[in-house]
Amino acid sequence: LPDDIAAVLRRPPVTAPVTDPDADAATRADDRGHVFHSWSAQSRIDPVPVAGGLGVRFFDDAGRSYLDFGSQLVNLNLGHGHPDLVAAIKTQADRLATIQPSFASDVRGTLARLIVERAGAGFSHVFFTNGGTEANEHALRMARLHTGRHKVLSTYRSYHGATAGSITLTGEPRRWGSEPGIPGVVHFSGPYPYRSPFHATSPEQETERALAHLSDVVTFEGPHTVAAIVLETVVGTNGVLVPPPGYLEGVRELCDRWGILLVADEVMVGFGRLGSWFGIQRFGATPDLITFAKGVNSGYVPLGGVVIPPAVVETFAERAYPGGLTYSGHPLACAAGVASIGVIERDDVLGHVRRLETEVFAPELTALADRHPVVGEVRGLGAFWAIELVRDRETRTPLVPFNAAGADLAPMLEIGAACRARGVWPFLAGNRIHVAPPLISTADEIREGLAAIDAALSEADAKL
Ligand code: PLP
Repeated sequence: LPDDIAAVLRRPPVTAPVTDPDADAATRADDRGHVFHSWSAQSRIDPVPVAGGLGVRFFDDAGRSYLDFGSQLVNLNLGHGHPDLVAAIKTQADRLATIQPSFASDVRGTLARLIVERAGAGFSHVFFTNGGTEANEHALRMARLHTGRHKVLSTYRSYHGATAGSITLTGEPRRWGSEPGIPGVVHFSGPYPYRSPFHATSPEQETERALAHLSDVVTFEGPHTVAAIVLETVVGTNGVLVPPPGYLEGVRELCDRWGILLVADEVMVGFGRLGSWFGIQRFGATPDLITFAKGVNSGYVPLGGVVIPPAVVETFAERAYPGGLTYSGHPLACAAGVASIGVIERDDVLGHVRRLETEVFAPELTALADRHPVVGEVRGLGAFWAIELVRDRETRTPLVPFNAAGADLAPMLEIGAACRARGVWPFLAGNRIHVAPPLISTADEIREGLAAIDAALSEADAKL
């Protein structure tokens, strides 16, 4: 191969901090010269060149190591360089690197069966996609064709992906740049006890009022026009909003009453993030369709999909499903998925997450909230938590304004820099620090990350 091409392909694995100024400079130059980045003003970014990663850490080319405290974009459930996942991908690449979806493939079939078995009674098939946004696109299409109705409801505080349908379902400001979007999508307010849109004073009242609001929206839209209600089981990027008791069950009842499909977007919480195979299993409701991606194989090869019940499969028994993807159920992605489910089972990762929830996250984050005036609330489940930051605990004024465009984000940027200076890479969104480390993190590694956040918050307290 030509030298410049061989050079990048032959770099050895980097499993500890390295200092390689040439690689650092070359990566920066190619990136800034030629890579167009997501969600960014291209002239205002300066991405860190990452040389490698191992377990809960990754390494740049300037000799620094970072604890990956957001699991990249909450996808890296089993950490970097997991030997079982890497081996599965290598073995599959040697055997059959790709095969188009109209053939049957052993790893694809096995993964579909493993997923259906873990989703529980009520599901029989999986449609595979390349990620979360496509999963939601197909759930939307299936729901419309299955019900013969065209409207789809989703919440304002939500993110469902960046393709046409999913960005329209998305309720938050990232939608605005893609409007008008697709027809037939209606937004409503979901529960958020800390900043109740319904002026509720207790979680129970929040549930009651949020359900009454949703019932009103469906009534005025015309129940016979509504195909689906799409919800993130626990709202992710928009705040780790754990639904108050009875809410999801109430939405399920409402859907049953009107023949509406309930779609649980589990792109962030599926495959162990909440200490259960699917997040919904921590609540008392069963959705009709589940969309997933990220944690299914820790993002080692792009993969997502929709878990489907027999009734929807039946709709397409004699009539063709009008949709497909060249890489649906890609063998390398599916091999990584099969290995990932094997590892989660063998190493009791779900039990580990449940223990971390009660023994580490809940007590340590509660103590952190008590120590820092800048913390308004901590909330979460499993290994999925948010620390919401405020200027004033009484008024609950957010530390930075809700709509980030043009706002003064300095306080959050400073917190990010303070964490990174201590070797911890945090996941920041709005006025929150999201704590979502790899599920394989030890208690000590989580304490290490929280110690950096603790120090960063002390600096933020001092500036209030
Ligand atoms: N749905 C949820 C809840 C997500 O968090 C995301 C991504 O963060 C998506 C959908 C979109 O997934 P992807 O980026 O794989 O298209």
